[in-house]
Amino acid sequence: MLLQIEGLQSFYGRSQALFGVNLAMEEGEVVALMGRNGMGKTTTIRSLCRIMPYRHGTVRFLSHDLGVMRPHRVARLGIGLVPEGRRCFPNLSVHENLVVAARPGDWSLERVGRLFPRLRERHSQSASTLSGGEQQMLAIGRALMTNPKLLILDEATEGLAPVIRQEIWAAVRELKGEGQSILIVDKTLKELMQLADRCTILERGMSVWDGTPADLGEDIQDRFLGV
Ligand code: ATP
Repeated sequence: MLLQIEGLQSFYGRSQALFGVNLAMEEGEVVALMGRNGMGKTTTIRSLCRIMPYRHGTVRFLSHDLGVMRPHRVARLGIGLVPEGRRCFPNLSVHENLVVAARPGDWSLERVGRLFPRLRERHSQSASTLSGGEQQMLAIGRALMTNPKLLILDEATEGLAPVIRQEIWAAVRELKGEGQSILIVDKTLKELMQLADRCTILERGMSVWDGTPADLGEDIQDRFLGV
């Protein structure tokens, strides 16, 4: 098992946001974490990366218990997070942004450049001058440069032009083809369903459904995803 979350409960101050999230992922799987706005997807991701502490439950990654770890340790174990809002260093160039993230492994500047040719063309440009879509590509490239065993994409296509979205989906498909494990949150159901091996749905901070895209019928979609 790559990742196993059981009975996760998290709080913002005294306000409880997660009431019992369960999620299991095998190596090489693409899992879609789904649910309407505010149901706890981002909080689940923040909790598992230890960016916010959780109070109850267990999170295991490979053989490690993440419950006692600092965020940088979690990252070093091999969890590459592309957070909501595509964070890069604005004053560094594309090249520098990628280099500072690098850790030993198969990913290199050349390989990121093959995945996202737009980044290769802009390698000396400062990140602040990139379009939103290019910044998103850079944020994904940075996460890949850490050679993650698990890549987490939180709303990676949000607010982007359709053509750029398609480029990002194509890259994610390519990563899946290479065996990359990916946990993904996204609002575009169609692409998500073509890509995911399994989906897991949150409702008010709780896991309420788990299955394959083929099992995700209209009744489930109406009930939990509001489409
Ligand atoms: P979205 O798709 O809108 O990003 P989400 O499923 O990722 O939604 P979360 O952002 O995890 O949902 O929010 C889960 C709950 O936690 C919501 O009730 C939200 O209001 C609350 N919450 C999120 N961030 C904070 C915060 N910084 N302080 C207090 N409550 C928060």
